[in-house]
Amino acid sequence: MLKTITSALSDFSHLIFPHNCQGCGTDLLHHNATLCPKCFSGLPYTGFMQQAGNPIEKIFYGRVNTQYAGSLLYFTKNSTVQRLVFALKYQGNRQAGYFLGKLLGQALKECGRFNSVDALVALPLNKKKEKARGYNQALLIAEGITSEWDKPVIMDGLVRKLFTETQTKKGRAARWQNMQDVFEVANPTNVAGKHLLLIDDVVTTGASLEACALAALKIPGVTISIATAAYTIL
Ligand SMILES: [Zn+2]
Repeated sequence: MLKTITSALSDFSHLIFPHNCQGCGTDLLHHNATLCPKCFSGLPYTGFMQQAGNPIEKIFYGRVNTQYAGSLLYFTKNSTVQRLVFALKYQGNRQAGYFLGKLLGQALKECGRFNSVDALVALPLNKKKEKARGYNQALLIAEGITSEWDKPVIMDGLVRKLFTETQTKKGRAARWQNMQDVFEVANPTNVAGKHLLLIDDVVTTGASLEACALAALKIPGVTISIATAAYTIL
């Protein structure tokens, strides 16, 4: 009976808030699904999460000492993954973040390689951006992961410092230098001695993740791994 009511309410809400597949736009999908079966089965998995020396680990070679790193999906132009990330970052679609996080959480759990991780830390977003967006998309992904893989999320373990207007207008080299000081550990006792898994939506150059990892590694006993939902091949 309860199920019927829930289902009726869900059908009703579907009429008021029609929802579509984030990949192709069809409305022929289960009421709480993010993708239709066709887009879901076509997701481009990297398949290298469990491999030592995979392309994500190579991004960080010689830059920052990481234990393990991996990305779940390839990010390409005009793809389902791009539309999911766009919906998450620019259209207020929180569900897309949980969805990507759940998939990533399943993969992290299944591959076994990241078992020694103690806690998840979402890459901090600039506070202004977070306020405008209403959330940190990396944190939504971390919450999706923890629903599938039994690891705690450390909130505000790391923070992003506020930057002045002139600093953001500096040249590329200066910005790179600045990037080194963008992050800081807000609460060292929360992270000391822990193996942290840094989470972000997409890795491209890895500059932000590197800077964040370097800040965390200043705390005694911290080790770092990195996982992102998607990976852009440069
Ligand atoms: Zn679709």
